[in-house]
Amino acid sequence: MKTLLAATLVLRGATLVDGTGSPPRQNALVVVRDGRLVSAGAATSAAAAALPADAEVLDVSGKWIVPGLIDAHVHAESDADLQEMLRWGVTSVRLMAEDTASAGELAKASKTRRDVPEVFPAVPIFTTPGGWWSQGQPPDSRLDRFPTTVDAARAAVRQAKALGSAEIKVMLDDMAWCRAPLPAFSRFPEAVSAALVGEARAAGMRAIVHAPNLADARRAIEQGATALAHGVLDPIDPETAATMKSRPVFYVPTMDIYEFLADTRRFVDAVLSDPRLSGPGGLPAATVARYRSAEYSDGYRRRYPNFENVARHLPALRANLRTMQRAGVPVALGTDMWAFPGVGVSIEMDLYAAAGLSPLDVLGAATRTAAKSLGLEDRGTLEPGRRADFLILHADPLLDVKNVRSIAAVYKAGTRAVPVSR
Ligand SMILES: [Zn+2]
Repeated sequence: MKTLLAATLVLRGATLVDGTGSPPRQNALVVVRDGRLVSAGAATSAAAAALPADAEVLDVSGKWIVPGLIDAHVHAESDADLQEMLRWGVTSVRLMAEDTASAGELAKASKTRRDVPEVFPAVPIFTTPGGWWSQGQPPDSRLDRFPTTVDAARAAVRQAKALGSAEIKVMLDDMAWCRAPLPAFSRFPEAVSAALVGEARAAGMRAIVHAPNLADARRAIEQGATALAHGVLDPIDPETAATMKSRPVFYVPTMDIYEFLADTRRFVDAVLSDPRLSGPGGLPAATVARYRSAEYSDGYRRRYPNFENVARHLPALRANLRTMQRAGVPVALGTDMWAFPGVGVSIEMDLYAAAGLSPLDVLGAATRTAAKSLGLEDRGTLEPGRRADFLILHADPLLDVKNVRSIAAVYKAGTRAVPVSR
């Protein structure tokens, strides 16, 4: 494709954290051409002299370069949510959505749009009538996402594949862990969920399963799930961890939603204590005011009244994250965070660091491993030949992983996406 921009973009002098897990490289020279990384090495005078004459050279000394962030679990209530994600440095997302055809169209458009991340849909969201995500959420316009028989389940998965889906999402949860004493939601008959996951795998598709309870998570893994969409509430046994490592089954912790539901008031206040979010250039003032109101947190207490149970499980959720990392299970960062689209990734990264993961491991979960969970080999690290999805940061992300929100610039496929400076 022809472009009117300078053919070669060069970033000189930053500290490069390339996402491979290697230590940071100071005074780097990053060369980008046609949306891809040509090289990422040392900014020696010989390397600078070898650059093409028409290269656009940006001096970014004193700054940091990291791969674009990848969120392996999002829902977008609007196009504005997606725009907010890219603004906070999220360059690719796994989007869970109800309607397979429209998600496919969005995914196609997202490849060339400069204002949203590239979208990889997990569609549709399969659930049982009366189950979680069958509580007023829309149907799929072209297939039955509420199948009640094995045959209907298999047919729906085949239809999803025909509509372009590469991954389905399946709900295995009655939500009692966060909603009791409100009535529990209906659960999939085991044969139907097994048919959904089995048919997807037979068709070469991925199947990500929402299963916060350990028994459901184990069942999902037995049925062939390729990823768990949420952290698991009870301690994961070594046998399950070994199975997850060997297949592999990706673990998407979504720690932020557990912290949010355990104590919404405390969580929101902690997030908003960072002036990068609550001050100028952060979230809209009206949003900050709404989140700080008692009505906001009280509403969650009413809708999710089992918050004390969620709080009791936080230590096990943190321990599971450490267990997964130590056992070699791929941990792919995912947020599921409706309240803080985009910046939820840095909130989630902070929770992984607080649980005991090293900053390099946290960054790897948010880049390299999240990419792998989507089957993407072309991004997630900043190595020659990879897509030039990267962030320029004002502050060191290895000193404090929350510094990925100190964004100087976001590049998607080598193009500056959002000219925001904070
Ligand atoms: Zn979800």
